[in-house]
Amino acid sequence: MVEGILLGEFEVTPYSVTGRVDYDKLVEKFGLALIDDELIEEFGFPHKLLLLRYFYAHRDLDKIIKYYKEHGRFAIVSGRGASEHIHIAHVLLFRFVLELQKRFNAFLFVPISEDEKYFAKQELYFEDARRFAIENLIDLIAIGLGKKDTEVLIDTLTMNAKIYGLAAKIAKKITLNTIKAVYGFPNETNIGLHFYPAIQAAHILYPTAEKDLPSLVVISVDQDPHMRVARDVAARLSLFKPAALESRFLKGLLGENKMDASNPQSAIYINDSPNLVRRKIWRAFTGGQPTISEQRKRGGNPDICTVYEYNAFFFDTLEQAKNKYIKCRKGELICGECKLELIERMQKFLEEHKRKREKARDRIYDFLDIDINSYLS
Ligand code: SF4
Repeated sequence: MVEGILLGEFEVTPYSVTGRVDYDKLVEKFGLALIDDELIEEFGFPHKLLLLRYFYAHRDLDKIIKYYKEHGRFAIVSGRGASEHIHIAHVLLFRFVLELQKRFNAFLFVPISEDEKYFAKQELYFEDARRFAIENLIDLIAIGLGKKDTEVLIDTLTMNAKIYGLAAKIAKKITLNTIKAVYGFPNETNIGLHFYPAIQAAHILYPTAEKDLPSLVVISVDQDPHMRVARDVAARLSLFKPAALESRFLKGLLGENKMDASNPQSAIYINDSPNLVRRKIWRAFTGGQPTISEQRKRGGNPDICTVYEYNAFFFDTLEQAKNKYIKCRKGELICGECKLELIERMQKFLEEHKRKREKARDRIYDFLDIDINSYLS
């Protein structure tokens, strides 16, 4: 057994933190496999976000494990669709990716696809999408992205012949019918979105086609349609089918299933001021009772609590998360305490990130061979 797995009390499953009902449907709909304790142990990476089932589903992770055991190496692909500043769900995913890379000494490919967002968002200017691509990369460097064994691509700024050549080969294998069946675009949709899946599949298959390494793609579950296209094409190009580790969504501050990047009240952005963070968290949805005395008597519900989730996923150890869960259920915790703790932790994290970001700006030239200043103005 993997050590440290939590819960067990109160007849909860490891999904208690994630609320599994909707996610089960996605697993069934997309044909994914659930991550279980045995697989985590086999993987040899008992990361908190796996144990808590934030990453809860996969495609062919078992094959990556087998390949790693035989060859000592694989590739990770995890990118950004840039159209605004990153928020903390992106931070969570990317921190995981970097730990995964370190643990397995993996090659990491980070494609930044501002073109997709430009095609998808009517109101987004091309120049703004590019600017955010660079800003997002600076954030990723500040989070810890290093140049060893890593490549970064910004689609409309540093696209290269290898990726575009692969995308061309892929495009020839994908019909319009396939794209419509997978993505459901109506006829009125611009052709950029119809073509983009070829670029995305090229991102996913780049380490396999160019470096002979199978790709493990780390994404949130809503990105799975790209996996289906890439896996289908890989088979037809006689390439190793890419595997995936898929996360659920980080809850929105208002209690929504998914942090909504287009609603500033729903997300904590990387550049939010300390006061704004305080206000947002103080108003956040919790699983608490209407009054403190009721909370003491009946206990709270951490399963639906945004504040519990952020504390558990970002800051707590497994043991701390487990204790907090039990105390909340027993009415030994009140929401104000949890919120104050989260505010303090989040403010500190964002303040440190801001400092690291200043240094990261200069390090962007480790990854890009362009003058970023003309794109940032
Ligand atoms: Fe959430 Fe804490 Fe309130 Fe429990 S006490 S519902 S964990 S904020």
